Amino acid sequence: MMTALDSPPLGLVLADIVHSHRPRSEAGSVPAGIPHLSSPPFDRFGIAVATTSGDVFSAGDADLPFSIQSISKVFTLAMALSADDPGRLWSRVLREPSGTSFNSLVQLEVEHGIPRNPFINSGALVVTDHLMERFPDAAGHVLQFLRVQAGQHSGQGPFIDEVAAGNELANSSRNLALAHFLKNFGNLHRSAEAVVENYVRQCSIMMSCVEMAKAGLFLARGGHGANGPVVSRSEAKRIGSIMLTCGMYDAAGEFAYRVGLPGKSGVGGGILVIVPGECAICVWSPRLDSKGNSLAGSAALADLSDRTGWSVF
Ligand code: GLN
Repeated sequence: MMTALDSPPLGLVLADIVHSHRPRSEAGSVPAGIPHLSSPPFDRFGIAVATTSGDVFSAGDADLPFSIQSISKVFTLAMALSADDPGRLWSRVLREPSGTSFNSLVQLEVEHGIPRNPFINSGALVVTDHLMERFPDAAGHVLQFLRVQAGQHSGQGPFIDEVAAGNELANSSRNLALAHFLKNFGNLHRSAEAVVENYVRQCSIMMSCVEMAKAGLFLARGGHGANGPVVSRSEAKRIGSIMLTCGMYDAAGEFAYRVGLPGKSGVGGGILVIVPGECAICVWSPRLDSKGNSLAGSAALADLSDRTGWSVF
């Protein structure tokens, strides 16, 4: 573990991480089918750390808003667990790594409409459907939570990019197919169209690394958010466990091996990582590896955990 005596201050470490990991070439890819995600330049790179003692450190493009995409699934899950009896949700979605891509249809068919976990698309659609029972505008509810947690550090705070959401919705055949599959198996209570629209809007939330690190901090603080408890200590532990085993899709094992921390990625190039009791980290760089995780972001987190000793192991 890093100590005050033998390590440089965190701000300097982050500046060096940016220097080492900011992409110098267009390696990696941007997701097909979500047109707006190809717009940020390939060399964007930001990192922020929000600590349980209330400090925020950042470097690079940490104040630029990016599309959080699947990182939203962490917050939707937290909202769903805090809104209702968790047992009802867990009868509809499992907690096992999928070993398949995040939008796979095959596994859902074979496993009779019960998604492997809440962080693949089919599982997230079930969680959104569940949250919509209490909050028909589930995306608006998640956004409100993020705005409160993130505070007004910079700019306008988290917002939904409605144009991007509209674009993605027009290209949502696969997510609609997943939703219709779920419906056919009796595991979707609302219309497939309504659930996918809500899901796409929550994926289209824009926020910066600094805001994301602050928003995720409740998971490092035993469920305690900016204004009080968000989820219980046990639920915070469980969300962290699901991030560790399922947060990086079919690269969860590789990420756990390299970084040793619970994380959740999105195809916008962001990754949220939790260091229980210490801090929440957000890194963003838009180019992705073949599994849909930020190429530079994953490398930077492996480097940061090695330099600081931050790990759950
Ligand atoms: N909106 C994207 C989708 O549904 C999110 C995927 C992701 O970030 N992995 O395909």
